[in-house]
Amino acid sequence: MLYSFHTHSELCDGKSTMEEICAEAQKLGFSAIGFSSHAPLFIPAQWALKFENLNAYINKIDTLKQQHKNKLKIYRALEADYIPHKTISFKELRKIAQLDYIIGSIHIVENPDIPDNFWFLDGPDSNYEEGISTLFNGDIKKAIGQYYSQIQSMINEEKPDIIGHMDKVVMKNKDRYFRQSDNWYQSIIDETLEVIKQAGTIVEINLRGIYRKKYPTTFPNANIIKKCIALKIPLTVSVDAHHKSELLNGFIQQHKTLKEMGLENVSVFNGNGWEQIPVNDVINVSG
Ligand SMILES: [Zn+2]
Ligand SMILES: [Zn+2]
Repeated sequence: MLYSFHTHSELCDGKSTMEEICAEAQKLGFSAIGFSSHAPLFIPAQWALKFENLNAYINKIDTLKQQHKNKLKIYRALEADYIPHKTISFKELRKIAQLDYIIGSIHIVENPDIPDNFWFLDGPDSNYEEGISTLFNGDIKKAIGQYYSQIQSMINEEKPDIIGHMDKVVMKNKDRYFRQSDNWYQSIIDETLEVIKQAGTIVEINLRGIYRKKYPTTFPNANIIKKCIALKIPLTVSVDAHHKSELLNGFIQQHKTLKEMGLENVSVFNGNGWEQIPVNDVINVSG
């Protein structure tokens, strides 16, 4: 079985149309494609779906579902950011966009004491550095703590199906501000995994940083994946494709890696909810 539950298109920051992605997925023998545009945001963001395009998004996916009926399962999702009291509630998003599921991902961090200023985790390195210095007075523990606190409250308040690229906050750190082996950082990770475990949320293993050569490991990294396996937290693999040519990037290899780490099953969406399928079902596709 081949699947992609974290997929972008040109309606947000992707480069292929949804038609192109579905056609390619069907050609490659995928069983399921879930579209997950960046949810509309309260601040101007080039990379997010516009509110005025939400209906087009809904209708386009309905049309594609009809066109690919019995050949490819197509699902409607969003990758949504969460800032307490600022972002639209996931419950509301599920309702207005008739979603099959939601990926909760933090790309923007706030300092609640300094409203309307944000720390952007993507974009140029200077965004990252400026956010730490201006919003958190250079206090990296406070900045990282706020990122994981947003993840924890998102899980408790908004109940996303999946946590997107859980430790992406380290992407631009490059061992400059702290090391991931630091005790304080490991404590935050353990605390966050405990919240995830309690809520029954799925953790995705996001491959995008690797195949774009922006980062040497998956988000989250192998150390955290091992902790998830030990805690029996459900896992799924996300290529996070933004172009039809990326759909399989690292996908089968990652399932082989997971098997070597002792994982038996991954989570896939089946139209009614999430079920576990053997990692072997993915690995054996390649023969
Ligand atoms: Zn993302
Ligand atoms: Zn994404």
